[in-house]
Amino acid sequence: MTEPTENRRVYMDHQATTPVDPRVLDAMLPYFTEKFGNAASRSHAWGWEAEKAVDDARQRLAAAIGAKPREIVFTSGSTESDNLAILGVARMYRERGRHLVTCATEHKAVLDPMKSLERDGFEVTVLGVDRRGRLDLDELRAALRDDTILVSVMHANNEIGTIHPIAEIGRICKEKGVLFHTDATQTLGKEPIDVEEMGVDLLSANAHKVYGPKGVGLLYRRRRRPRVRLEPLQYGGGHEFGLRSGTLDVPGIVGFAAAVDLALAERETERARIAALRDRLQERLTSALTHVHVNGDPEARLACNLNVSFEFVEGESLLMGLEGIAVSSGSACTSASLEPSYVLHALGVGDALAHSSIRFSLGRWNTEEEVDYVAERTIEAVQRLRELSPLYEMAMEGIDLESIQWDAH
Ligand SMILES: *Cc1c(COP(=O)(O)O)cnc(C)c1O
Repeated sequence: MTEPTENRRVYMDHQATTPVDPRVLDAMLPYFTEKFGNAASRSHAWGWEAEKAVDDARQRLAAAIGAKPREIVFTSGSTESDNLAILGVARMYRERGRHLVTCATEHKAVLDPMKSLERDGFEVTVLGVDRRGRLDLDELRAALRDDTILVSVMHANNEIGTIHPIAEIGRICKEKGVLFHTDATQTLGKEPIDVEEMGVDLLSANAHKVYGPKGVGLLYRRRRRPRVRLEPLQYGGGHEFGLRSGTLDVPGIVGFAAAVDLALAERETERARIAALRDRLQERLTSALTHVHVNGDPEARLACNLNVSFEFVEGESLLMGLEGIAVSSGSACTSASLEPSYVLHALGVGDALAHSSIRFSLGRWNTEEEVDYVAERTIEAVQRLRELSPLYEMAMEGIDLESIQWDAH
């Protein structure tokens, strides 16, 4: 057994957040100090300078998703964008209909506003997914009714990386005249996005998942064919076309645009490099260990994502065995709730396997050498924990665990 290198740290949790790229920070810095103006100050050069920086960022971010600058609303992040899209549409169109459609594997920033609408008298259909995390498009089509006002389906899932066929979903929504929102937080800068080609009416994204700063995001809101109207969540100075009052975070917005520019410039080479690292990690783990299950879709999956369940091992114990390595677990104790991952549950993964899942998510500065180190540490930790597991021992002796009558006490 090799000892973990003293104090060695490896970050493989890029789907939770990413570090700010130093080039992004350089672009932001002047806007904290000498260029500190309020973008809404119309009467002096400080304000004009800030406003120009925001306009410039708005134009570049719009271009990145095939939108018009006036269709971009800056927010504090994807949670706010999801809330503004869902609650904003529901409150604006409630006389037209009170039915919304979403998917069981959405982020809580989508599911929770949907729940609050249910308490408010709206009806929400939550579509299930198959073992790979895919929607059934016929089921989606069948769920749309005359009183359906919004469909919300994410572009790629943050836990399992499954990529939904957004353009096809957009087409189905368009046929029925239903507005379509997608949470593209995990794909902006990583997968191609074009709101026209994808038939998207509303789209959420943020900066901190793409090597930009935390606390800034955007909501794309279609202005033509159809013009999407929203009831704002907060009122005040009428910033952002009246949809999101509050003084703009100019350095954050500048950093967001710089981060997306960088990601787009390197998107295809980065995607290939990261997919190769991910495949190497997966290969290492599955060839050295038995009873390893890869969760999600083997094909339509984000390049950075590897979600695996190590049977007979508690995710929580495994995390402790991986000190110095940052990954996430679908196990209960890592999250605020006591449930193991609801996303894995929606896939039909049972409690035991959900509790034994680990999400590795790779990023810009991960190296092959880090992948090998993380693979080695993981393999050792899993083997060590399995040696202590009576269930594993029984399985190795060929006992069918499903057939055991457990003592009821
Ligand atoms: C991270 C994430 C969010 C939340 O974004 P914040 O900007 O941190 O509020 C929402 N949706 C998805 C899919 C995410 O990955």
